[in-house]
Amino acid sequence: MKESASILIVEDEDAIRVGLVDVLIYHGYQVDYAKEGVSGLEKALTGKYDLILLDVMLPNMDGFKICTKIREQDKAQPIIMLTAKSSDEDVVNGFTLGADDYVSKPFSVTQLILRIKAVLRRSIPENIEQTFIQLDENRKIDLQNLSIQIGKDNIPFTKREIEVLEYLQRNNQRPVAREELLSNVWGYSEELAIETRTVDIHIARIRRKIEKDPKNPQFLITIRGAGYRLICPSEY
Ligand code: CA
Repeated sequence: MKESASILIVEDEDAIRVGLVDVLIYHGYQVDYAKEGVSGLEKALTGKYDLILLDVMLPNMDGFKICTKIREQDKAQPIIMLTAKSSDEDVVNGFTLGADDYVSKPFSVTQLILRIKAVLRRSIPENIEQTFIQLDENRKIDLQNLSIQIGKDNIPFTKREIEVLEYLQRNNQRPVAREELLSNVWGYSEELAIETRTVDIHIARIRRKIEKDPKNPQFLITIRGAGYRLICPSEY
């Protein structure tokens, strides 16, 4: 089963770090962060992150030093450097020290996400994005084309509905609470997760599209008091 990739952000500038955390959570990654160099290195050396986003200019220990120390321990750890200076010298320095890629600030979020995906693809070959969810012999959800094929019919989903389905599928061994969906699919922080109707409305819409009888769902079920669970029989 595909778990979402985990990313460590080492960045001292609050605005950038907070923004990155939000954006990466929104894109389905698990996120951890450090605000300065020493704790950043400590976390990085645990080896539990699929990718490290490493700022260059950091208090206590700079990004190049951290990168060198990570490489001494782990040659394969994917690292993307975030550099404020885009001078060739810095870039070359980062690569020599073993970063997989670099992004110069100010960066566009789209660019950064593309780089992250590229580095993760190279480093975790098995982490290929899933393209279909097969619910039963004639119900196939096409995640890329945002639709479900039911027999000869093709019913479109919105991007958000597909994101909900993908998240439930990734976690289909357990029920997922509304608050978790709001935080990981919608990107709401937990303090903001007051408005919960939006999840219910999306679930209802999805059920109308995928279920034989939306009132008695068999694929997207409710576990009372715990949340929603997507049932994907393993034989399909
Ligand atoms: Ca910095």
